[in-house]
Parts: sequence; structure tokens; C-alpha cells
Amino acid sequence: MDPNSKIYLAGHRGLVGSSIHRKLKHEGYTNIITRTSRELDLTDQQAVATFFDQEKPEYVILAAAKVGGIMANNTYRAEFLYDNLQIQNNVIHQSYVHGVKKLLFLGSSCIYPKNCPQPMKEDFLLTDELEYTNEPYAIAKITGMKMCEEYNIQYGTNFISVMPTNLYGPNDNYDLETSHVLPALIRKMHLAKCLEQDDWNNLRKDLNSLPVNGVNGEADNKEIIKTLEDQGISITNQPFNQSTKFQTANQPINQSTNCSVILTLWGSGNPRREFLHSDDLADACIYLMKNTDFADLARYSVPEDQLNDKTKELLTEAKEIQSSNHPIIQSDSHSKDITYNPFYTLVSKYRIPIKNTHINIGTGKDLSIKELAGMIKDNVGFRGTIDWNTNMPDGTFQKLLDVSKLHEIGWQEKIGLKEGIRKVYEQYVNGTI
Ligand code: NDP
Repeated sequence: MDPNSKIYLAGHRGLVGSSIHRKLKHEGYTNIITRTSRELDLTDQQAVATFFDQEKPEYVILAAAKVGGIMANNTYRAEFLYDNLQIQNNVIHQSYVHGVKKLLFLGSSCIYPKNCPQPMKEDFLLTDELEYTNEPYAIAKITGMKMCEEYNIQYGTNFISVMPTNLYGPNDNYDLETSHVLPALIRKMHLAKCLEQDDWNNLRKDLNSLPVNGVNGEADNKEIIKTLEDQGISITNQPFNQSTKFQTANQPINQSTNCSVILTLWGSGNPRREFLHSDDLADACIYLMKNTDFADLARYSVPEDQLNDKTKELLTEAKEIQSSNHPIIQSDSHSKDITYNPFYTLVSKYRIPIKNTHINIGTGKDLSIKELAGMIKDNVGFRGTIDWNTNMPDGTFQKLLDVSKLHEIGWQEKIGLKEGIRKVYEQYVNGTI
């Protein structure tokens, strides 16, 4: 990829896409094509084909998808399967048809089995049952990754897939009904702090920018307090000046801290999770687009005892072809002799299954939700108490990616979690999110 390369970035307004967009522009790429979902519905096969005919992108980054939290995944099961399959089938297939030099597909760490050994290695894919709640989404993502792999094996394309861990960053979703854990904690702590400080201006500003359950900043104090209580944010004594005219319903004052606001969170706080800033993910994606070909990833599928002169030669040949940026087999060529394709030869003649070629992207470090909440609390400056409602389910105990392949390829994260949280909270309060 050079600064003038024509790059189609699908999903440029999302959490991931917007970070990649900023990073590409920052690195001097000047020919980036973007479309909103209203301008180009990627589930529409004909529209996508016409777009590729007209624009003929050289590189594609596929960060468009139907994404959501557990509730959304479990509620809109058909949509999560259909939309994601359509989007990726259309974009990946048209990339092949139009001879795209390289494509990067964004999957997710939810592709791994429910009870996957930790940390999760790329090779653990399809070794056991998936988590039922997000099975349709995970199956779509596994299919996208397999599409890339099988197109490479049959057509010699250079399509690579990445599986990021939990992300956070600018343009994240702060809607408390659908958001992921980290942005939800940031917003809840912020609201709790505003309530604790009797800061109704900022409380109303927050609700005006994004209502909670239909309640915005125009609602009266009582309705706002009730809405916050529904989100686990409650007053435990009477901190307000008389102008608020609100009486709390006999809630006990927290004697240990004498805090006025208590934030109740679901579960025990013990499950462990890993988080990556979306700017770091963007950095990793662009690094891989520049430095890694499918041929490099296929190498991981060849067992040491089968890495002989012939298989090494095939991998070298594949790398040379892919470095020259030409697809091995042109979709419009009359002769589609797949035996020209070294990947195909490895699979068919040498019976080496090229699989699990995706790359995990994460930090390889996790922390408990309790620790995360503490970190966010310190950053936001909420002084009240956090309570854990252990009647609510905890979910999987640990979800941590094995990132050795990524480290071997030469990439590591740069933004620490504390610094990342400080940055996003600053952006959140400045209303730039
Ligand atoms: P967002 O929901 O923030 O953004 C999704 C983007 O996809 C939007 O820009 C939207 O476009 C676009 N889009 C959705 N449907 C269509 C459609 N039918 N046609 C065209 N464009 C469409 O998602 P994220 O940025 O969080 O996720 C991007 C990718 O990263 C996904 O593949 C996801 O699986 C992966 N990922 C995300 C993680 C996370 O924690 N967020 C973790 C791991 C992986 P528009 O804005 O124009 O409507």
C-alpha cells in the first residue's frame, strides 16, 4: 500500500472504521473511498457489484458489520446472521472479482468456543461449541474468515482476517441498553458522579445527548432519578440543595464511606476480560496491510516435519507472487488452472490443511471487571460506593486472547488501559464522542 493507493474502507463511521480512517489519513493516505450504509447498503449484492465496477479499489478494509452487545445478539439472531453474511459475502466476492490486491476482514474473538482454554490460540477455532447467545454472529464471522481463506486457497487472493478482543475508543456506543461493558461503566460512573455532585447541568446535558430509556434532560428531577435508579445508580442520603425538591425513599446512608450515591453493577465483578483501544487496533490493521501477506500466515499451517525443500519453495513462490500485488488467478481469465496456485498445491498435493490463518489482536493481558470498575471510578472521579449484585449472572469467567502470533509478526499495543480510559473519558465529557 502506498500513499496514493485506492483504499475502500467499509464502515468508516463505526468504532473501528473511524479509528482506521483517522490513522490512514494521519499516515498520509490520500485516496480513501468511503460510503455510509445509506449511500451503499452492503447487504445489496447488485449495489456492491456496481460500486466495485465503478470505483475499482486496490485495497479493501472490511470494518462494516452488524454489531451489538449480548442482548442485541440474542434478540436479532436472524439479522445478525443474515446481514453479516450478506455484507461479507458481497464485499469479499467482489474484491476477488475485481482483482483487489489485498483485503483485511474484521472478525471478533467471539468465534472461539464457549469453554475455550485460556488464553485462546488461533488453533482453538472450531474445536467445541460456541456460546449460544451470540452463535449467529460468531458463525457469520467464522464464515467470513473461511471465505478469505478458501478464496486464497482456490484463487490465490491475498485476503487476511483479524480477530480483535474487546475494543473501546472514540465513536463507541454509550447507549446503556446496547453498549459493551467498558463504555457502559464510563457512562454510569459519569452519571453517578454528576448525581453525587448535584451537578444537574451536566446530568441533563448527558441525557440530552443520548436519552436513557427515552428519558432526556428535559424530564423533571424525579423522573431522572428514577431512570438512573433503573440503571443501578441510586442516592443513599440527601445530598441535594433544596431547589431539587427531591426526597429519597428512606435509603440507608452508606456508613463506611458516607457517600451519597451507590452504583450497583451486575454480577460478582470477578470475570476477567481484555481490552484494546481502537486506535491501537487501527495501527495493527494498517501494520498488517503493509507488512503481512496470506503467504506469511499460511506458513503457520505447515507442521515442522512437513517443512521440507518443496513446501518451503511453494511458500516462497506464494510470497513472491503476493508481494508483487497480483492475484494468482484472475477471475476474468479463461484459464482458471488452479494448479498455478501454490496454496492449492500445498492443500491438494501435499495434503497440508491451510487453516486457522487469522490473527488474534489484543494485548494478551486481562483484568477483572472489579479492577476495571475501580480504574474507571478513579479516572472519572466518582467517590461513591460500587455494589455488586451477585444475583445476576457473571458470564464466561475469562476471555483472553493468545497474541503470540501477532507479536511474532512484529506488532504490539502502545496505549495502556489507564491511559486509554483517561483519553476516552476526556473525549466523552468534551462531547466529542
Ligand atoms: P460499529 O457498529 O461501530 O460500526 C459498524 C459500521 O458498519 C458502521 O459504520 C455502519 O455504517 C457499517 N454498516 C453496518 N451495516 C451496514 C450495511 N448494511 N451497509 C453498509 N455499512 C454497514 O461497529 P464496530 O466498529 O465496533 O465493529 C467493526 C468491526 O469490528 C466488526 O466486524 C466487528 O465484528 C469488529 N469487532 C468489534 C469489536 C468491538 O468491541 N466493537 C470487538 C471485536 C471485533 P454507517 O455508520 O454508515 O451506518
